[in-house]
Amino acid sequence: MIKKEAKYYMKGVIFSGMRPTGKLHIGNYYGALTNWIKLQNEYKCYYGVVDWHALTTGYNDTSLMKESMIEMVIDWLSAGIDPEKSTLLIQSQVPEHAELHLLLSMITPLAWLERNPVLKEQVRDLNLKENMGYGLLGYPVLMASDILIYKSNAVPVGEDQSPHVELSREIGRRFNNLYNSNVFPIPKLKLSRTPRIPGTDGKKMSKSLKNDITLSDRPEEIKNKVLSMITDPEKIKLSDPGHPEVCVVFKYHEIFNKGNVDNIKNDCKKARLGCVACKKVLADVLINEFQSFREKRNYYEKNPQLVWDILLEGSKKARTIAKKTLGEVKKAMKIDYA
Ligand code: ADP
Repeated sequence: MIKKEAKYYMKGVIFSGMRPTGKLHIGNYYGALTNWIKLQNEYKCYYGVVDWHALTTGYNDTSLMKESMIEMVIDWLSAGIDPEKSTLLIQSQVPEHAELHLLLSMITPLAWLERNPVLKEQVRDLNLKENMGYGLLGYPVLMASDILIYKSNAVPVGEDQSPHVELSREIGRRFNNLYNSNVFPIPKLKLSRTPRIPGTDGKKMSKSLKNDITLSDRPEEIKNKVLSMITDPEKIKLSDPGHPEVCVVFKYHEIFNKGNVDNIKNDCKKARLGCVACKKVLADVLINEFQSFREKRNYYEKNPQLVWDILLEGSKKARTIAKKTLGEVKKAMKIDYA
């Protein structure tokens, strides 16, 4: 057992989290989860259900929170996250994250948070303006706490999260400098090979934009979503030569159907392949890709208590590490009063 654990420390520590907003989409999967699965064999990994982060924008209706946590973690497990290797935790069940968040909020300049490009985008997309909460402004400080409390060396996320990881690095560095300590390693951003998956409309795939394909969509749903995708507006019929470079369906072929992508490109350009046929090929590729995932998901769907137990057990384990780091933080700040 000790030998098995030690193996995962080889390259250091990883933390990453996801907001429990229900079933995952293929953007979450190819942007972050594929990396999570791979890294569990090289690092000591902590993967968090960041329920407080979900509250930063979803505070008005919390009735589905627990259900959404379970749905999301069923996706993690079915995709290949192994709780024997990785510690799966619920942010709110490790309250030390909140205490560290409070302490780090004291040393984080407001200007860093106000110029956060992710925040600006959210305020615009969700039309928040006057309604933006104090918690949303502090999103990156809470994320820094999640990451730093496990002394993480790397953070696997999608491209949209890279400004937040950068802020976590800045906050960690500022703490170490201010208190002349080396409590926190400075964590590196770890992007997957596909850090930004477009949605069916070509914008970034996101649940809130309703342009997503979920991992658990049934074959019929995948097919319908792919068939409704917009293609090159200049290619109306089969005999029109297409421009794959402006077509979202082609972008998907580039990501998901690499072996076949040159043929698709040539046939589209030379007017040998129509858009409906091209979409059907893509739908089949996606349907096949997630076949075994759907089978595993059936198992966990029937055992939600098992999923919940994994999370409670993981949170307990994570808490021992989080308490230790928080102790070091207070000591460095000379507020441990012991
Ligand atoms: P969402 O953006 O769907 O609300 P989260 O913000 O909780 O979900 O994101 C969970 C993880 O998935 C993060 O690492 C994020 O960077 C990644 N991610 C989300 N959407 C995409 C996308 N379209 N392409 C690549 N990665 C993504």
